[in-house]
Amino acid sequence: MRQKIVAGNWKMNLTKEEAQSLTSEIVGMNNDELGTNQKEVKLIICPSFIHISTIKSLFKSSKNIYLGAQNVASQEKGAYTGEISAAMLSSYQVEYVIIGHSERRQYFKESNQEIAQKIDLIFANKMLPIFCCGETLELREEGNHVEFIKNQISESLFHLSASEFEKVIVAYEPIWAIGTGKTASSEQAQEIHAEIRKHISSKYGKEIADKTPILYGGSCKPSNAKEIFACPDVDGGLIGGAALKSRDFVEIAKSF
Ligand code: PEP
Repeated sequence: MRQKIVAGNWKMNLTKEEAQSLTSEIVGMNNDELGTNQKEVKLIICPSFIHISTIKSLFKSSKNIYLGAQNVASQEKGAYTGEISAAMLSSYQVEYVIIGHSERRQYFKESNQEIAQKIDLIFANKMLPIFCCGETLELREEGNHVEFIKNQISESLFHLSASEFEKVIVAYEPIWAIGTGKTASSEQAQEIHAEIRKHISSKYGKEIADKTPILYGGSCKPSNAKEIFACPDVDGGLIGGAALKSRDFVEIAKSF
């Protein structure tokens, strides 16, 4: 059985006090309330860099909750003002890093090659990537979306060894569904997740492809999570807006 994962991407939201209270609400729930007991769901919280230390101090080791960052520098260290290195994140016990989010690709012009460099630094510092891919509406309407997504994956991930690749989490996030209230239908999600798995299989073989968690992201909320998570190739969600309310986030985690 593949690992089920629900990751919350808080983006550039929440003050220190707000981040503390949201974390306290989540870690204050028992495993039954969190839904992490019976179905073995892993929860990952990805606050902004500045809250990482505060959030980590509120975690309790008994819970299936892990800490992630939303980005990392593509250089190891040095004169890159304002950047945060993989070694710095690792020294704060960060375990996961979201990489290649469409907002990073769009607003900060991150290329597949730069994302590949970041992935190497994540592995070198003993963290694990949550790799995002996904198409614009225009690409989907042109019918080029599957090739586009496969290319994102090949160019950023296919240099990895099999033993590295089997630690990767993939998140399919159609850009037209992020923060827009428009969700991919469960058929659309399943179709692309199956294509992604097939593509992984063509490079790393069926065994690794069958083990790779592929999350869906894009306006996922309590009212649609059940239907999306019921798809055979959907292994959870990368959640933006709905991760900012403990009740919604936890409700989504219980939707398997
Ligand atoms: C995201 O940005 O990763 C995301 C899925 O956002 P939202 O859930 O708000 O669409």
